[in-house]
Amino acid sequence: MTSTFFQICSIFYVILLMYEYFSKKRIKNIENKIYTCLIVNVIIELILDVASIITIRHKDEIPILNLIVAKSYLAALISWMSFFTLYILMLANKHTKKEVSQEDLAKKTRKLATVLGIVYVIYIALLVILELKFVDDNGSIYSLGPAADLSYLIAGIFIVIMVITVIRRRKTIPRKKIVPVILFVVVGVIAVAIQMSNPNILLISAVDAFITFLMYFTIENPDVQVIETLNLAKEQAERANLAKSEFLSNMSHEIRTPLNAIMGFSQGLLEENLPAETNDEINDIISAADNLLQIVNGILDISKIEANKLEIVNTEYNFEKVFKELVSLTKGRIGDKPIEFKHNYDETIPPVLYGDYVRVKQIILNLLTNAVKYTKTGYVNFTVSSICKDEVCRLIISVEDSGIGIKPENIDKLFDKFERFDLENNITIEGTGLGLAITKKLVELMNGRIVVQSKYGEGSKFTVAIDQRIIPKTLEDFEEALAEPSDAEPFMGCGNKVLVVDDNAINLKVAERLLKVYNIDVELVNSGQECIDKILGGSKYELILLDDMMPKMTGVETLHNLRKIIGFNTPTVALTANAITGMKEKYLDSGFDGYISKPIDKLELENTLRKFLKVDDTPHYVSKEVTEVNPDELKNIDILVNNGIDVDASVELLGDMDTVNETIKDFLAESEKRLPLIKEYKEKGDMPNYAILVHAMKSDAKYLGIKHLAELSLDHEMASKENNQAYVDEHYDELVNEANHIISVLKEYTEE
Ligand code: ADP
Repeated sequence: MTSTFFQICSIFYVILLMYEYFSKKRIKNIENKIYTCLIVNVIIELILDVASIITIRHKDEIPILNLIVAKSYLAALISWMSFFTLYILMLANKHTKKEVSQEDLAKKTRKLATVLGIVYVIYIALLVILELKFVDDNGSIYSLGPAADLSYLIAGIFIVIMVITVIRRRKTIPRKKIVPVILFVVVGVIAVAIQMSNPNILLISAVDAFITFLMYFTIENPDVQVIETLNLAKEQAERANLAKSEFLSNMSHEIRTPLNAIMGFSQGLLEENLPAETNDEINDIISAADNLLQIVNGILDISKIEANKLEIVNTEYNFEKVFKELVSLTKGRIGDKPIEFKHNYDETIPPVLYGDYVRVKQIILNLLTNAVKYTKTGYVNFTVSSICKDEVCRLIISVEDSGIGIKPENIDKLFDKFERFDLENNITIEGTGLGLAITKKLVELMNGRIVVQSKYGEGSKFTVAIDQRIIPKTLEDFEEALAEPSDAEPFMGCGNKVLVVDDNAINLKVAERLLKVYNIDVELVNSGQECIDKILGGSKYELILLDDMMPKMTGVETLHNLRKIIGFNTPTVALTANAITGMKEKYLDSGFDGYISKPIDKLELENTLRKFLKVDDTPHYVSKEVTEVNPDELKNIDILVNNGIDVDASVELLGDMDTVNETIKDFLAESEKRLPLIKEYKEKGDMPNYAILVHAMKSDAKYLGIKHLAELSLDHEMASKENNQAYVDEHYDELVNEANHIISVLKEYTEE
């Protein structure tokens, strides 16, 4: 008699499998969706298989029910085969040589599912019509006839499609995913062979169950809950790390001011005729304070880098000058230590390079300082070679010493923060373990590489490779250009028309005031749309200064729309307070002709005007800007200064105290509107608009020398741009309290 043993066993383990599969939250990808269909299908198929074995035994008493159950079983069998084929075809689409997006994959899979669905519907229609007979062969009863033949034919076609797909895509589909197909074919053939020699053993649905079970281990099946927990832990760790860095950075700021005072006063004491002994002690104080300052600067540097706030500032520079400065600084550090200092550089290095020479110097000086620090006797070898191609010069900087060397087990930790090694031997050597961490991060910021080779007890060699752009200029031309600003006639326009676009009223005023000095006819608008309207309305300008971060239409979007206007060719310069690394390149790539960072630096502005505007060549009288503060105006300034507002910086940026006073009034009026809106956007979770407002607050605060508020606003701007609502919520009070404090200080100042 036909046995149901395999089916019943399969039902048990498929139920267990279903429990395991459905009890956990899964990611909703296509693979999981198909697998869900397969697993549900297989349990139905098994139940129908068992049911059909039972009904077939009573085929004479319940002929109709028997026929329905038998045909339903065949339908379930073919639907499982259809899902399995769909799964294999989906794998073939997913694992191609090119990266396929989830969206594309979903589209393709939907198409395949539709085709297979149509085939299946036709099959069902035929299955209903076609005849299915039942043969009783000495007690073992099985089904025959056109309906059964059709089912086997379709199953055969699906198997052929799967085998061909797998063979064709064997190189791209991961091996573990092919296993179920191979096993399906092998086990399927064995099952059919067993069934043919012994019709009492029906194995097909058990094979399907086995394959479904096996697939569970091959599908991408991450547990969503575990992922969520991990993400949460990661977020918490990152937040804690950020809080720590912020704390360090704030503390360092605070420490720097008194330290500078200590050093300044001590240096002042040296000028007075004090006894030699006292002078020695003062020198000790200066040297200790200087060491502390180095540490504090290191902490500030690393926290800036980690918060992505350190910008690489590229300028043209004279390579030889940088090299010579490094050599002379190193000689000073060697002092009378018995170290031979060898240095040379490749004469073919172009004289004028373009890069952040301040940071290049910092990198090399860190390496040279370490080489001198960790070498008692012997040599320090400093060489710079180069590989130049087209516009790029790769500097290969090597610093080798015959010092104490580094143990192999410490090499991996060398560039970690606060790691110092061999302390028992280096007890007298001062250091923080920050130098190499900063060096490595700076090298990475410049897309360079740093490697170290070292033999403990014999010496170390650090090699850095960084690319700098070649400026095709002679040294004479470069130096002449440098001298230009002081020697040349100051820039003066001739009523040139310039349009400034910014949503922030204070920014517009500042730009207007700065530009007017150059005899420029300034027009101001406060949105991208108004700028487009002006151009469409036929207004002509020689230059447009365009802010990027504006609501509704950003500067980049405005520029793209402007470029679509036929005949538009006005030079357009990005005017933005986005001081994050790589921004300049981003704006130039987006099609801007130039970039000026805010707060506007006068020299930067003047260079831009010089580049894009016609100049007045008639002699003119240049009014000297008044940048000194009138003593009468000083009376209340103490209120600002005592509350940490850098009035000098503000006067430097805004030109004179009158403009500062006006800007303070504007700031107070703006804040009245801005703060309730900031609150509203935070409560709504509207991070993009929140970012725009805190960005504006940052920019105003910078112009007024309100440093702490500017920094807090920047942190909120960065967090909201990353949609980090948690950060915003957590630090919102801090921001608003500081803003309210500043507002009350400014009010007190203006009311006095
Ligand atoms: P610091 O010198 O302030 O301790 P660094 O980050 O510059 O910090 O260096 C980390 C550690 O790496 C040092 O404490 C020292 O143990 C080791 N090290 C760095 N440069 C050398 C070198 N040239 N030779 C031997 N050890 C070195």
